[in-house]
Amino acid sequence: MAMLRAEQVSFSYQGKHETVHAVKDFNYDFKPGSFYAIVGKSGSGKTTLLSLLAGLELPTQGQVAFQGDTTTQMDCDLFRRDHAAVIYQNFNLFPQLTAQENVMYPLRLQKVDRQEAAQRAQEALAQVGLSPTQWCRYPSHLSGGEQQRVAIARTLAIRCEIILADEPTGNLDEENTKSITDLLLRLAHEQDRCVIVVTHDRSIAARADAVLELRDGRLLQQEQAHEE
Ligand code: ADP
Ligand code: MG
Repeated sequence: MAMLRAEQVSFSYQGKHETVHAVKDFNYDFKPGSFYAIVGKSGSGKTTLLSLLAGLELPTQGQVAFQGDTTTQMDCDLFRRDHAAVIYQNFNLFPQLTAQENVMYPLRLQKVDRQEAAQRAQEALAQVGLSPTQWCRYPSHLSGGEQQRVAIARTLAIRCEIILADEPTGNLDEENTKSITDLLLRLAHEQDRCVIVVTHDRSIAARADAVLELRDGRLLQQEQAHEE
């Protein structure tokens, strides 16, 4: 069964003088346990599509549904808080909070008590390969790759089913790109999460279970990548 279903989704930006049709008639069923790569040239609609899937934008036409509920009907803040976490190129951590506090933050919003939140944060940070000394560091004292691990740990701690990432390795070197990709693949394949990554990096797309190529807002083709 689809975890996230896009049905005839179109989205237009309405400017003063022109309308930009950023996503056109997009249909797709995203399943749990799979790693999807969304590729395409700059301006092809990748970020807009990810925003639609995350409920950050609502379709102009068509619908995006999570387990049968459409983003138009649901409370999208709660959807992202509990089910669909978004990871960005620039990590988006709170600079004034330590790594562990950053991971605990959304749990506290979910009203998880402090002790349990701390425990779940530590488990998640350990899972992404960070050591206890790094848990207490502020983002400015962590490398880019480490900061992205903290951002991923935050999605693990809230146990969300869907991870959406826009160029998550865009600010990382080759080695960190590989290890973050390894991690995201493991989350899909070993923990049955639905991982959807926008990337222009062919080495990441080559490892995906499915590659969705956008051209001018339209889904062009789906290549089946090799089996992992
Ligand atoms: P990508 O992520 O593939 O580079 P985007 O989804 O950011 O593509 O953009 C798709 C199209 O929508 C582009 O033509 C872009 O200029 C346009 N666009 C993106 N954001 C806005 C906006 N806020 N207002 C108007 N047009 C936008
Ligand atoms: Mg983009």
